[in-house]
Amino acid sequence: MNTHPTSGTSEAYIALGANLGDREATLMEALNRLNAHPEIEVLRCSRLYETDPVGYLDQPCFVNMAAAMRTTLKPEALLTVMQHIELELGRERKIRFGPRTVDLDLLWVEGQNIDTPLLTLPHPRMMERAFVLVPLTDVVPEGESSGLYRRTQEALISMSGKEGVRYWKTCNWRSESGLFEN
Ligand code: ADP
Ligand code: MG
Repeated sequence: MNTHPTSGTSEAYIALGANLGDREATLMEALNRLNAHPEIEVLRCSRLYETDPVGYLDQPCFVNMAAAMRTTLKPEALLTVMQHIELELGRERKIRFGPRTVDLDLLWVEGQNIDTPLLTLPHPRMMERAFVLVPLTDVVPEGESSGLYRRTQEALISMSGKEGVRYWKTCNWRSESGLFEN
């Protein structure tokens, strides 16, 4: 039975990253846990990209991806769910921008502009980060009405550091059910 929400919902985009342990398995488990939440449905996943660290350089490469989801949660509640999953999957946060088992960032939520100490939407640094924008272009539809697709494309054209984002592999999350393949 599909108990996922189909009305009264917002579309949202998130960025996922990991650079410690089994990076792919961690990201797939994060998607499982998000989708298992009764008020969250994961709609689409990007491909997986291997990316050079940015900022704090003395750490392993990341695997980054993006996902589109639908939720009935308010953005603050969605972020709280994401932060719980980070903790459950063993995130240790010792160095800002440093190594982490998993990092889940909320990029954009339909119709939401927020600027509070806990949550800023759209994510304030997303348009400067190739490791966010490249995966994001896999999951934002071209005809998306807010202009997010166009802004993402424009930001990418002039962006440096794109060469540090390398296609790694397809995302097999749920491919056994035939729902997701790219
Ligand atoms: P980063 O992802 O930039 O490396 P963290 O994951 O450690 O940093 O997040 C730092 C803080 O950013 C969190 O405590 C969270 O409350 C805040 N934050 C503000 N806006 C967002 C957002 N859109 N997505 C995720 N975290 C956010
Ligand atoms: Mg984060």
